[in-house]
Amino acid sequence: MSALERPSRQGLLDRFGRQHTYLRVSVTDRCNYRCVYCMPEEGLDWMPRAELLTYEEIARIVGIFAQMGVRRVRLTGGEPTVRRDIGALVRAVAAVPGIVDVAMTTNGHTLAKQASMLAARGLDRVNVSLDSLDAARFAKLTRGGRLDLVLAGIDAARAAGLTPVKINMVVMKGENDDEVVAMARHFLPHAEDTILRYIEYMPFEARWHASTTAAEMRTRLAEIGPVEPVQDTLGGGPARYWRVGALRVGFIAPLTEHFCASCNRLRLLADGHLRTCLAHEDTPSLRDLVRSGATDASLAETIRAIVRGKPAGHEAETDGGRLFEGVMTGIGG
Ligand code: SAM
Ligand code: SF4
Repeated sequence: MSALERPSRQGLLDRFGRQHTYLRVSVTDRCNYRCVYCMPEEGLDWMPRAELLTYEEIARIVGIFAQMGVRRVRLTGGEPTVRRDIGALVRAVAAVPGIVDVAMTTNGHTLAKQASMLAARGLDRVNVSLDSLDAARFAKLTRGGRLDLVLAGIDAARAAGLTPVKINMVVMKGENDDEVVAMARHFLPHAEDTILRYIEYMPFEARWHASTTAAEMRTRLAEIGPVEPVQDTLGGGPARYWRVGALRVGFIAPLTEHFCASCNRLRLLADGHLRTCLAHEDTPSLRDLVRSGATDASLAETIRAIVRGKPAGHEAETDGGRLFEGVMTGIGG
């Protein structure tokens, strides 16, 4: 085993003893949808392409993280599938020694076409965002999204073995919270290879909506049957898992059920900045260091220093708490 393949004994520890084994990589801030909770209707001032990390740069940086104990990578965005030849990046990341799990979070718009290619390149799993089962409402919430394509994409992901497919529903009061139960009923027949996750809407700058709490969602789900907590065997992520009938349902509740104390994740933004916390921008940009000729050793040292400075947690609370800095599409959710 080369020095590269050998995981660091020390790992990536922060001041609070949290070990970091999971890296989310936002590959672009661009998107073919404009979800109401994520982006303004007119889109954003996209990062100039030259500012985005190249696939070679991403693979190199992932390699350095892997040496320090990162084992799982998630590609996200913006919408990762709109970046040209995303399959090439999947292949490059899957080939990094030490990385055992490569996943992607996608809106599913092109998944029907791409799922088998992505699986062949080494993708293990997908998370697909789905906020409504009503085509008109889906189009409204995503500002132009196509429910039929996304549902076909979910089927294609299952067929390609990108399982368990996790469905992410951002729940907003008065907008789609009346579909919490319908969503679970829809996926109950697919409980074997599908997990449904409800996400508390997070207040981001100007895109203000009202949140529904995870506890309220569970109360609604009780209409189907008992909602029982299950042991989390899914890898220390932010979701807490429950079961309704045979279906596993997760709740990502950054506002009412903080998971900061056990947070094992780091975020690499499309422009090379590292975010140790969703609500906290770190400097310097790893891209700038890479482009100025930094060695792997000095990059590793910078990463360690940034991780040591990770804050204990964020302070956002339901409607009225501190807003997160930046926009979700650059951070990657
Ligand atoms: N475009 C891909 C997608 O939609 O799945 C990946 C990027 S998206 C920013 C990642 C996740 O963040 C999605 O599941 C999305 O629903 C979630 N998200 C975006 N804005 C959010 C907000 N304000 N509150 C909660 N979740 C949000
Ligand atoms: Fe695009 Fe995903 Fe944001 Fe929706 S949530 S606008 S699909 S990046």
